[in-house]
Amino acid sequence: IIKNSEIEYYSFYTEDLKEKLERKRYIIENLDQAISDNYIQAYYQSIIRSSTGAICAKEALARWNDPTLGMLSPGEFIPVLEEAKLLYKLDLRIAELALQDIKRRKELHLPIVRFSVNISRYDFECCDMVSEISKRVRDAELSPEMLIIEITETVQGIDQEYLKEQIRRFHEAGFNVWMDDFGTGFSSLDVLQDFDFDLIKLDMQFIQSFGLNRKNPVIIKKLVEMAYELGIDTLAEGVETKEQIQFLKEIGCDKLQGFYYDKPHAFMSKPEVTLDGVPLKYEDKNTEPFQT
Ligand code: C2E
Ligand code: MG
Ligand code: MG
Ligand code: MG
Repeated sequence: IIKNSEIEYYSFYTEDLKEKLERKRYIIENLDQAISDNYIQAYYQSIIRSSTGAICAKEALARWNDPTLGMLSPGEFIPVLEEAKLLYKLDLRIAELALQDIKRRKELHLPIVRFSVNISRYDFECCDMVSEISKRVRDAELSPEMLIIEITETVQGIDQEYLKEQIRRFHEAGFNVWMDDFGTGFSSLDVLQDFDFDLIKLDMQFIQSFGLNRKNPVIIKKLVEMAYELGIDTLAEGVETKEQIQFLKEIGCDKLQGFYYDKPHAFMSKPEVTLDGVPLKYEDKNTEPFQT
C-alpha cells in the first residue's frame, strides 16, 4: 500500500523531471533561433582595480530572455548547451555582442572599457576558438587587447597539452587569458604551474567564506602572494562587503568584482555605476596609459 503523500511525491517528482527534460530539449532546439532573434543578450558586470577604485574592465555574462520561458539563467542553459556541444555558438555570439557594444560605446563617446568573455574548454572540441574569435575582432575593426578570454579551471578529461597550446595561441593572437573560478577544481596548483594565465579569478566561494573561519583569510592571502610571485594577477569574485574589500586591498589583490559594486546589467540600462551615490570612474583607454 502506497500512502497518499507518497503518490503525490512520486507524481510531483516525475512531473518535475518531465518539465526539466522538456526545457532541456527546448533550449537545444531553440538556440539558433534565440541567437538570430536577439533573445540571447550580454549583461555586463564591472571589474574594479583595487588600487584606484576605477572600473578597468567588464565581464560579459550571457542571458537568455525567452518569449516563451521568460528569463533563463546561465545556471540552467550553460550545462545543457555544454553537454549538447553547442555552447561554442553561444560563446561566439556573446563575443560578437561584446565587440558590438565596445563599438557602440565609442560611437556614444562613453569611456572605452575592455570586456571579458567566458568560454568553455568544450568549445575547443567544436571549433577553432582562437581563429573564430580573432576573426570577429578583425571584422569589428578592434584590437584583441579589448577582449579578455576567461576559461574555467580545467577538470579531468581534457587534454592538458591541447589546452596549453590554445592558451599560447590566444596570447600569440594578442588576447589576455584569465582563469575563471580558481580554487573550485582539484588541480589548482598544477594549473598555476603548467598554464600560462595572465590572471586568476579567485572563486567567490573563497571570498564569501571570509570571516567565517580562521583558515580562510590565510588561504586567500597565500594564494594572492603566490600568484604575485609567479607574475600572475589576481581578481576576487563575488565581493559583497566593505570588510572583504578592505582585506583584499590589504593583501594586494589586484582586481575586485561583485554585487558590492554592481550586478550584471544590460548595456546602457545603467550607464553609470555608483557607489554610495558617487559614480565610479572608468580607466579610460583613450585618456590614460593602458594597463592590463
Ligand atoms: P562566472 O563566470 O564565474 O560569473 C560570475 C557569476 O557570479 C555571475 O553569475 C554573476 O552574476 C555572479 N556574481 C557576481 N558577483 C556576485 C556577488 O557578489 N554575489 C553573488 N552571489 N554572485 C555574484 P551568472 O551571470 O549567473 O553566471 C553564472 C556562470 O555561468 C558564470 O560564472 C559562467 O561560468 C557561466 N556563464 C555565464 N555567461 C556565460 C557565457 O557567455 N559563456 C560561458 N561559457 N559561460 C557563461
Ligand atoms: Mg567568468
Ligand atoms: Mg567566475
Ligand atoms: Mg563562478
